[in-house]
Amino acid sequence: MRFSRRDTLKAGAMLTAAAAVPSSMARADERIIRVATEEAWSFPEHQAALADLAKGPSDNLDLASLRLIDSRSWRQKALMDTDGERLERMDALGIDMQLLGLTAPGVQMFEPEAAVSMARLANDRLAEAIARHPKRYAGLASFTPQDPKAAVREMERAINELHLNGFIVNSHTFNEYLDLEKFWPILEAAEGLDMPIYIHPRAASDQMVAPFRDHNMHGAIWGFQVETGTHAMRMILSGLFDRFPRLQIVLGHMGESIPYNLWRADHQFNRRREQQKSSLLPSEVFARNFYITTSGVEHEPTLRYAVETLGVDRVMWAIDYPYQAMENSVKVMDGIAMAKSDKTKIYGGNAIRLFKIKA
Ligand code: MN
Repeated sequence: MRFSRRDTLKAGAMLTAAAAVPSSMARADERIIRVATEEAWSFPEHQAALADLAKGPSDNLDLASLRLIDSRSWRQKALMDTDGERLERMDALGIDMQLLGLTAPGVQMFEPEAAVSMARLANDRLAEAIARHPKRYAGLASFTPQDPKAAVREMERAINELHLNGFIVNSHTFNEYLDLEKFWPILEAAEGLDMPIYIHPRAASDQMVAPFRDHNMHGAIWGFQVETGTHAMRMILSGLFDRFPRLQIVLGHMGESIPYNLWRADHQFNRRREQQKSSLLPSEVFARNFYITTSGVEHEPTLRYAVETLGVDRVMWAIDYPYQAMENSVKVMDGIAMAKSDKTKIYGGNAIRLFKIKA
């Protein structure tokens, strides 16, 4: 759905007025800072390399999705845009900042050497976009699980030299998950740099993709959360958070269904406690090492459940632009009645703290 600029300006003004809910914890007249935390972005060389990959004979479902992309479509232009319409819409809706991440599947389908140079280029371009609009964008750095040593070098450069705000990875890399020991240097680097890793969805790995080939169900309708939720549960149950107790992982889409299943996971974990690799319950690991965002889920009951289950300090607002429109995401958040101090955390405060954003 397209909004005219006049409509969005009008809606923005109405929404800003509605957001001024008084609370004893926060000053009623203070504006809530809005930082959207899972916002997709790309650049021409990245799109060209993905298009080349999609020309191959593979039946990989990520490539199948890429083949459907019309490079002239509004969404493709919106992905590449960091200076025009994106900022205009943010202005109209009172969105202070977007935390940008290279759109899925990022650099993870390229062969290692090409992936390493693409990750460097992506992070350089992202830093340039932020430098052009330092008050409007922050950024998550790409890295290459297909070359863990290079990944660590790039992670260090992205934080120490480019001053990016954390990392993004699109679930599996050539069908392998981050709990494998070969990836531990990446987890160690993130923990050491004190920056979170956002695990973003992509289509299911080859080992479990078969049932998702039918009924157009491999994407955000169901497959993405099965893939990404499985990835996170592998990490939790592998016990790796005993080794990296300060590592912080971010999941979008209200936690990829995990919060809804935590009670049962704990219950089953306790039934076989002596066989478990983690010293902590799944819910304990989730509460200590995970944040979730609202990306793609504009639904008040789900948000209330997430806050009740995980606590208000571990839930962050996200849109999933341009795959999801900015307008309704803001409208839903503004419409939710909650203490202003809580809304301040979800809408931007938690993100500013976790991603060390200079807002
Ligand atoms: Mn997304």
